[in-house]
Amino acid sequence: MGHVINNSQSNNYSMNSNIIKLLEHNDVKPTPMRMLVLEQMITQHRNLSLTEIENLLYPADRVTIYRTLQTFVKNGIAHSIDAAGSGSVYALCPGGCSHEAHKDEHPHFVCENCKKISCCTDFVFSFLQKPNTPKYVIYKIEMTIKGICPECTAKQ
Ligand SMILES: [Zn+2]
Ligand SMILES: [Zn+2]
Ligand SMILES: [Zn+2]
Repeated sequence: MGHVINNSQSNNYSMNSNIIKLLEHNDVKPTPMRMLVLEQMITQHRNLSLTEIENLLYPADRVTIYRTLQTFVKNGIAHSIDAAGSGSVYALCPGGCSHEAHKDEHPHFVCENCKKISCCTDFVFSFLQKPNTPKYVIYKIEMTIKGICPECTAKQ
C-alpha cells in the first residue's frame, strides 16, 4: 500500500473506492461508519485501540465502533491483538483472510520503549504444528515478541 495523501478530491475518491472494494471483497456492506473506521485504520499507519479510534472519530458512538470492529474481525478484514496486557488493538489483515478463517497467524511485536504494537508479517509459524487431536478447538495462536522497534532503535 502506497502512502495515502488526503488533500485532493481525486485522492479522496480513490480512497473511498478502495475502501468499498475491500469491504465488499470480504462480504461486508459498506456503511458510512464502516468506511470511516476502515479509513482511519488505513491512514493512521499503525494499529489502533478502540479508544484511539473513538477519539479519531469523535463524537461517533463507542458501541457502534466496537460492533464495526467485531464485524471486521469476523469477516477477515482486521484482527485483534491482546499483546500489551492493556486492552486490544486492531490491525488490518495483510490479505487472504475471509469470514471463514484468518490466515495471518504472525507474531506481534511490542516495543518496550514507545509501547507500539506492530504485526510481524515477515515471520511465519512454520515451526509450530497444531496438535493432532480433535480435543483441542483452536481459535487463534498468538505469539508476542518484546524488544525495541526500528523507529526507537534509529533514535538511540
Ligand atoms: Zn486475518
Ligand atoms: Zn518503539
Ligand atoms: Zn497482526
